Amino acid sequence: MDIDHTFQETKTYVSRTALLESTLALLEWDERTGLPSQGGAYRAEQITHLSGLIHRRRTAPELGAWLQELSAGPLASNATSPVGATIAKLFKDYKRHAQLPIELVEATSRAVALGQQAWEKARELDSWNDFAPHLKTIFDLRREEAQLLCERPNPDATDLYDALLDQYEEGARTQQLTNTFAALRDELVPLVSNLTIAPNRPTGHCWQYPVPVDRQRRISKWIAEQIGYDFSRGRLDETTHPFCTTLGPNDCRILTRYQEKYFPSGFYGTLHEAGHGIYEQGLPDKWYGLPPGAACSLGIHESQSRLWENFVGRSFAFWRWCFPLLAKQLNGAWKSLSAEHVYRDVNLVAPSLIRVEADEVTYNLHILIRFELEQSLLSGELSVADAPDAWNERYQHYLGIRPSTHRDGILQDVHWSAGLIGYFPTYTLGNLYAAQLVEAAERQLGPLTEQFTKGDFNPMLSWLRENVHAHGRCQSAPDLMLKATGQQLNHRPFVKYLSNKLAPIYE
Ligand code: ZN
Repeated sequence: MDIDHTFQETKTYVSRTALLESTLALLEWDERTGLPSQGGAYRAEQITHLSGLIHRRRTAPELGAWLQELSAGPLASNATSPVGATIAKLFKDYKRHAQLPIELVEATSRAVALGQQAWEKARELDSWNDFAPHLKTIFDLRREEAQLLCERPNPDATDLYDALLDQYEEGARTQQLTNTFAALRDELVPLVSNLTIAPNRPTGHCWQYPVPVDRQRRISKWIAEQIGYDFSRGRLDETTHPFCTTLGPNDCRILTRYQEKYFPSGFYGTLHEAGHGIYEQGLPDKWYGLPPGAACSLGIHESQSRLWENFVGRSFAFWRWCFPLLAKQLNGAWKSLSAEHVYRDVNLVAPSLIRVEADEVTYNLHILIRFELEQSLLSGELSVADAPDAWNERYQHYLGIRPSTHRDGILQDVHWSAGLIGYFPTYTLGNLYAAQLVEAAERQLGPLTEQFTKGDFNPMLSWLRENVHAHGRCQSAPDLMLKATGQQLNHRPFVKYLSNKLAPIYE
């Protein structure tokens, strides 16, 4: 076979695997939107069977042989071109999957399935002891995986946490994140305490008016469309934990949740997920299922959702545009309010126990706590039995509050029960990347606020399309950021953005 033929063969093979992967995603989307409760057991069988087929395809020896041949050939010479990146990233993924014995993969998926069920029950009963043995098994299995990945010849990582982190944030290193996050913490902890005692704090009064869910649905669809989410290639549904999922090159779906008595939950949930969706819709669709058509990393993904949710959606310019239009749709509920009121209330900062309800400042301290704890749990330095105390102490230390239940403490997140260890830092990376990207966009395009005031989000979107979305996974996140912003990962633009915005509100 000549080399071009081998490349075509590989592309076809991987695209067929993508047919199965997107079918799996469809089954999962359906499971989380409207599966009858009695249908759960059969759905689990469908998902397990399909996952097995996908794993076998991903580790098939012929795929390994083709990628081996391709990576030694001329097509691989430019590793950031779409063809070169396809070869490099597929080979990297192949080696990772092939390194893991099927017994370990199966044991992990079983532990994770049982772990999530146990977590849900334990959270409901506030019973740490019901969940602890599952968490221990999950950390043991993922440690074993990390050890195998570090021990192979030419490993991508030599540190256990790095080996897991690389799966979510390719190219990121624990040491660098530790340094950046520590610098961020040193800025945020005093900022939070100053804002907490500031005399002119926002009140949150704008949210005292209930908004019927039906009306919120219309508003959410409208705002997602305004910022650039394409409904001819997507749809918006409801679920308990909002997410975004891609089911094909022209089918990217977003999900949110509504609370009649708390309007921002649905509104900002939609802006956030629409940000993820807009990114997916901007990936090169002719490369769907292959690295150039895939997202760069979870941190970059989160930068896109945070950018629309916070940097745009919590700006004064945005509210000057949005307020009169939204007030009209709220049938007089906001008649005594102004854009200024709403702007202040969407920027209320207060220490709280629950990560998903946290404001954009304290959010990062929630992440830092999880990042520190999961490293100690993975290394074995911290035992699972001691984890709740360690959790509570850190909340006291960083946020000045202490959970009185496990439900509001260590049992609040699904991630560890789902085996997602090394995932949390990508949330804060998203915030930092978003600040760096906005700064770079404004350096090139001039201030964007005037356009936001008119509801014109196109210049921002086009800049992101060109500098972030179009590249897919051809570069690692650190390389993409360097090219788009001229900077390495840096916490300063984020801190500057927060101080510039919050100081005038709280003074
Ligand atoms: Zn997100």
